[in-house]
Amino acid sequence: MINFDFVRVATAKAAVDALTKDNSAQWIAGGTNLIDLMKKGVLSPRKLIDISKLPLNEIKKESGRLSIGSMALNSDVADDELIQKEQPLLSMALKAGASQQLRNMATIGGNMMQRTRCPYFYNTDMPCNKRDPGTGCGALKGFNRMHAIFGASDKCIAVHPSDMCVALVALDATVLVTGPRGDRRIPFRDFHRLPGNTPEKDNTLQRGELIVSIELPENRFSKNFHYLKIRDRTSYAFALVSVAAAMDMDGSKINEVRLGMGGVAHKPWRLTEAENYLKGKTASEDVFRQAAELGMRDAKAYGYNNFKLKLGPNTIVEALKAASAKS
Ligand SMILES: Cc1cc2nc3c(=O)[nH]c(=O)nc-3n(C[C@H](O)[C@H](O)[C@H](O)COP(=O)(O)OP(=O)(O)OC[C@H]3O[C@@H](n4cnc5c(N)ncnc54)[C@H](O)[C@@H]3O)c2cc1C
Ligand code: SF4
Repeated sequence: MINFDFVRVATAKAAVDALTKDNSAQWIAGGTNLIDLMKKGVLSPRKLIDISKLPLNEIKKESGRLSIGSMALNSDVADDELIQKEQPLLSMALKAGASQQLRNMATIGGNMMQRTRCPYFYNTDMPCNKRDPGTGCGALKGFNRMHAIFGASDKCIAVHPSDMCVALVALDATVLVTGPRGDRRIPFRDFHRLPGNTPEKDNTLQRGELIVSIELPENRFSKNFHYLKIRDRTSYAFALVSVAAAMDMDGSKINEVRLGMGGVAHKPWRLTEAENYLKGKTASEDVFRQAAELGMRDAKAYGYNNFKLKLGPNTIVEALKAASAKS
């Protein structure tokens, strides 16, 4: 049993003030990740500040940009009419995550902030630089089947587990945050970070910064899109590899493509070189295969995850085929 205080706040300012005042406090939203981490002894905050009732759950369109409050539930966003019409890739990625029950509790902000599912991180008997900096990385020479093939370091080879974030990086979202030093906007692709020498830091938020909302620019991807998630079971399992593909096409000519990849890096991975290669090309399996090879050029596996070097390009090709085939 660990004892902790529990308080509920009603405004974003009160949430920021309460956290800034107390170093041992932590925000709780849906609780679907934080409570697991507390049960496993990975985290032991002495105070939980409940932010789930903050009035930040609106989904609205303003000056051509779609805004989603950080407290909106994963299931509400996935089922929202405006999202389904204008950002269907996001809806599809959300529905591939967790289970309906979990999506009914999980918030957009919590989903972005969820910790890695590396089993060494959750097992406090094992070394883990992310949980306990300086203790070593159990996965590097251990059972690393779920682990990264891009952007890892010798300090950490974990992956970010979110499905939603793979769509958001492809859709060029922006994160709006507020904190002790005021408000700021963070491009989604700069929100999560690579492990480097400080794998304990998952993202670029400073302590006390609260995610308020995310914004999505208008796009021409509502017809040709696909989120393909490869996993050990068809539900309730994290991605081994996933690909979010968004395409703007004129017949079979590709005007623009966005490709996000999940299950492969410490952050949702963008395949910019593959995107640039595909621009202006005529859609075909050969062209998709070339793009996939470009996208995988810097991949490096660690033993048990060698299969991702083959699964990765195949998933890119299949996602592009499915996205381009939609009419
Ligand atoms: C069995 C299981 C299977 C799952 N499968 C998948 C899956 O396949 N794909 C997938 O994407 N996810 C999956 N998940 C993860 C799930 O999506 C996350 O647990 C959930 O999105 C977290 O949201 P939450 O609101 O419950 O966060 P919480 O657990 O409440 O919080 C998580 C962290 O976020 C911080 N936080 C919350 N909101 C904010 C905010 N606005 N600003 C700053 N910090 C904030 C909290 O302080 C905490 O540190 C699974 C979870 C479980 C338990
Ligand atoms: S991969 Fe990262 S999270 Fe996993 S054991 Fe190594 S340091 Fe810890």
